[in-house]
Amino acid sequence: MTEKINKKEFKKEKIPRMAMPEQDPEKRIRNFNEVTLGYTEEDALREAFRCIQCRNPKCIKGCPVEIDIKSFIKLIKEKKFDEALEKIREKNGLPAMCGRVCPQEDQCEKECILSIKDEPVAIGRLERYVADREMKQVAEGIKECAWSEVTKKCTRGKVAVIGSGPAGLTCGAELARMGYRVTIFEALHKPGGVLVYGIPEFRLPKEVVQKEIDYIKSLGVKIEVNMVIGKILTIDDLFKNGFKAVFISTGAGLPYFMGIPGENLNGVYSANEYLTRSNLMKAYRFPECDTPIVKGLRVAVVGGGNVALDSARTAKRLGAEKVYLIYRRSEKEMPARDEEVEHTREEGIEFKLLASPVEIIGKNGWVDKIRCIKMKLGEPDDSGRRRPLPVEGSEFDIGVDVVIMAIGQGPNPLLTSSVPHLELTKWGNIKADPVNGKTNIEGVFAGGDIVTGAATVILAMGAGKNAAKAMDEYIRTGIWQ
Ligand SMILES: Cc1cc2nc3c(=O)[nH]c(=O)nc-3n(C[C@H](O)[C@H](O)[C@H](O)COP(=O)(O)OP(=O)(O)OC[C@H]3O[C@@H](n4cnc5c(N)ncnc54)[C@H](O)[C@@H]3O)c2cc1C
Ligand code: SF4
Repeated sequence: MTEKINKKEFKKEKIPRMAMPEQDPEKRIRNFNEVTLGYTEEDALREAFRCIQCRNPKCIKGCPVEIDIKSFIKLIKEKKFDEALEKIREKNGLPAMCGRVCPQEDQCEKECILSIKDEPVAIGRLERYVADREMKQVAEGIKECAWSEVTKKCTRGKVAVIGSGPAGLTCGAELARMGYRVTIFEALHKPGGVLVYGIPEFRLPKEVVQKEIDYIKSLGVKIEVNMVIGKILTIDDLFKNGFKAVFISTGAGLPYFMGIPGENLNGVYSANEYLTRSNLMKAYRFPECDTPIVKGLRVAVVGGGNVALDSARTAKRLGAEKVYLIYRRSEKEMPARDEEVEHTREEGIEFKLLASPVEIIGKNGWVDKIRCIKMKLGEPDDSGRRRPLPVEGSEFDIGVDVVIMAIGQGPNPLLTSSVPHLELTKWGNIKADPVNGKTNIEGVFAGGDIVTGAATVILAMGAGKNAAKAMDEYIRTGIWQ
């Protein structure tokens, strides 16, 4: 079939955007396997032929790491899949992950010229296709370990990266490519940050994350796990040990609670703890893994972002009969990706919109119900979204046995409190130059969620990339201004 594909047959106007094959909702709520199944070669070719190869491709400007999207799609059209992947990797070391979790609808695809009259080219799905294709070929032994040729000797100075999420991995990869000896220090026993402990297997398989981390290691990057910087070693120790510059990318791993009565009851989790138990500690694989988790038959998740949706869908897969998503605004204001909202609805999660918890009520020390109040939307607030206001006397109860708080995360002060002169914002984020990641301390750079607050994978990667350039310049010139 693919042999027949040629330009004539695939005149762009005639090809609808290729749908992504998915597991059936009824089936997938009973397993943790990936929901989306990925394009076939034919799907990818058909989708690539929708790209009209604009003279001034706006899609590239919409990508925070400026992948040469037009060129990689052209290579796919020519069936040069390996070259397409190399083209992506010139700018992005984590294509299989970004292809899965990046909000393309707000970035490259939003800018795609086709979106004016039609649906944009499915850039993220094509990115995922070429990355997955290589992984599959390596696994099947069709291809040698794909990146063996890129390994090179790192002979320039030593640099340290703290935290192995997307910001740290990208910064490390960029510096290794430049020839630096990079060590990433990671507090947890596995590298990857939110990609391993937060985003569930059914959205981002951990095997995919591991393979992309292996690629980064193959560039010469060393990752030391179980290393809590600020406790085991300080930043001063790193400089004393010969590191010429340090990049801090410790993320936003400190969960927020609402401060309402009942949050200390058994059965109340932060989304961070709940997801870490399930993803990183593999509670979902019980009894093979014996990490305890209160599964709950009736679960309430509070929040409307990706973290809330991931928690709700995890609870469903862990066996909950009823899962409620309680969000204080309407669906339109939900910060989660549209695709995730759609998947969550398909999986039978009940949305309780325009509602906010006021109390969690217990019985014998355990959660018994959650009391909410109805909300209405007022004028837009600082975020540009309409402010939710309580409707007096509209309280109602929902019977639940587990409550998961997914209302946001802030910076963990573990590291920042160990560096007394490091300038922070009033929320505890590190103050860093948005262009180059420089902090107020010479040789110390920062980027990702620890600077911006909870954001996205690709923005964290962009920050890592920019900081790497600035670190190189600083080490080469010794100039800090
Ligand atoms: C459940 C969930 C779902 C999400 N879904 C999406 C999505 O679909 N799409 C998207 O684009 N974004 C999503 N995000 C947001 C995205 O994952 C983050 O913006 C991104 O991971 C931030 O990257 P980072 O490198 O700054 O930090 P992180 O990924 O948080 O990594 C920080 C790392 O630093 C380590 N660390 C912390 N303190 C120390 C220390 N003192 N010493 C050593 N190591 C330390 C941590 O253990 C962690 O591994 C999601 C977030 C969550 C929580
Ligand atoms: S803007 Fe859209 S159509 Fe144009 S080059 Fe980029 S992906 Fe192709």
